[in-house]
Amino acid sequence: MTLNQYIRDIQDFPKPGIVFKDITPLLANPKAVKECMALLINNLRERNIDKVVGVESRGFFFATLLAYELGAGFVPVRKPKKLPFETIAASYDLEYGTDTLEIHTDAIKKGERILIHDDVLATGGTAKAVCELVEKLGGEIVQCNFLMELSFLNGREKLAGHEVYAPLVY
Ligand code: 5GP
Repeated sequence: MTLNQYIRDIQDFPKPGIVFKDITPLLANPKAVKECMALLINNLRERNIDKVVGVESRGFFFATLLAYELGAGFVPVRKPKKLPFETIAASYDLEYGTDTLEIHTDAIKKGERILIHDDVLATGGTAKAVCELVEKLGGEIVQCNFLMELSFLNGREKLAGHEVYAPLVY
């Protein structure tokens, strides 16, 4: 199966000049989701992951499945004012604008082994902010895990020092 066929390019979304990789056809296809999970989970079963941190909102889909498969907890990182309990925040530059992300202060305990997952690694700003949040809470980042990497945007450079894994590279 070629997973690429389930990822469609949307021109000028969410702004003119952006070509957006839309994963909704992939999510709608159970065989494609199963194949993605096999690729994403790679060698993670042996790596004692305590928590999987998923990034709002497209990161939630596979992050929850990964957490379930790995027998780990799931932790949401969300846009401002969405989480109900006490939070810490980190701001970041996005491919299109700037934004802030938050995590609950009790979501990660010191020394816990953390897998970060999002659907796409573009410029790396989002993932870098998530790394900051996890490290502020004392989590140990095992891997930054993405379904796809837009390699021409050099997001890996921003995540230097962290293991980065993405089965689909554009
Ligand atoms: P970055 O901060 O690395 O520039 O952007 C990554 C974030 O923006 C991710 O949360 C991802 O969901 C979103 N994103 C950026 N470009 C795309 C894209 O082409 N397709 C999808 N599905 N998400 C994108």
